[in-house]
Amino acid sequence: MAVHILFVEDNILLRRSLAFNLENAGYRVTTAATAEDALDYARRDPPDLVLLDIGLPGMDGLDALPHFRDQVGAPVIFLTGRRRQLDEALGLELGADDYIVKPFDENVLLARIKAVLRRASRAAAANNVLARAPLVVGDLSIDPAAHTVRLSGQAVALSPREFALLHALALEAGRVVSVNDLLTRVWGAEYEGQPQVVYVNIRWLREKLEENPNKPKRIITVRGVGYRLQAEAAV
Ligand code: CA
Repeated sequence: MAVHILFVEDNILLRRSLAFNLENAGYRVTTAATAEDALDYARRDPPDLVLLDIGLPGMDGLDALPHFRDQVGAPVIFLTGRRRQLDEALGLELGADDYIVKPFDENVLLARIKAVLRRASRAAAANNVLARAPLVVGDLSIDPAAHTVRLSGQAVALSPREFALLHALALEAGRVVSVNDLLTRVWGAEYEGQPQVVYVNIRWLREKLEENPNKPKRIITVRGVGYRLQAEAAV
């Protein structure tokens, strides 16, 4: 499948000509004239990479970057017409994946796009391996590839949500994970419901994993912060 690039640029001539050239280079291209439209498109049809002009009417590229980060998760290359804007962007340390100053040589831009996509796919592959490796926390073992959980060798049946929640805690075993982090990791960055879903699923997990769910020894509540999964202390 063609790599999908979302190109956000208010200058119609540049938008058309670069979109045309990107398509000729084999990419699938969605264009937007404003960051607001682009975020809307990105939610419906997530891009693999965002080319983001900084000087835009409405929300500018600098303000839009964190939204692309949180909601889309794709790498972002900033385009800027002014050196001053570039300095500002660099000064803010927003962490775009690359920067290009207009006017640019399109071959240079294409090479930069390839480099950013390569880096992003290497990082994703590394994350994927980490995320799928089996985890052992005391007598609890969690195998994300097989989607199984064993407690002292006995299989425990969990719902997909319970499994994802336990896995998120196990990735940070021994450390506190905040309720907000759990919401983002398990329910997604766009989840806008109540944090109660975390408490409820923690309770269900405890009922399945704790000897006494009212006095948990594995999934520990850290008041006002979140939860910590720990190997049950030997008695
Ligand atoms: Ca512009």
